[in-house]
Amino acid sequence: MTTQENRWEHLGHAAEHFARRVARDARKFAERVEAHVGEFTHDVRHERHCGRRTSWAGHEGAGEDVRRVFQDIRGVLAAVLDGVDEFITRAFQDQGEERWARVVCNHDVTCGKCGRAVAAGQEAHVRGTAERREFRCLDCGVPGGSP
Ligand SMILES: [Zn+2]
Repeated sequence: MTTQENRWEHLGHAAEHFARRVARDARKFAERVEAHVGEFTHDVRHERHCGRRTSWAGHEGAGEDVRRVFQDIRGVLAAVLDGVDEFITRAFQDQGEERWARVVCNHDVTCGKCGRAVAAGQEAHVRGTAERREFRCLDCGVPGGSP
């Protein structure tokens, strides 16, 4: 088998793993949203049925509930985004040799060279595995390559 075939096979495995993970996380995500929306509409309907006015501003604890729902959903989404990171690092990791990939960070990271913080949403170079990741800010660039 040629090196090129090995690479494609490696990429194929990483893609399969990624697809399975996203499918699992998406199912979890859909279940959470469904449950939360179900509870929410039940509460609203219940209040209307009882003739109470639904005023979110004056509703004790409702803001906290809504915040909790979105934090929960954000947690599931963060897991999906971590899966994307993992896919990139697995897909571009060559046998024995780790490749750098340019990604948009989904959480704050620190540049391994200059120590500067790279905020979530900004681009950075990344390499490594889920267990051990290395980041470089765009100013520092990839060692031995053009930034
Ligand atoms: Zn840097």
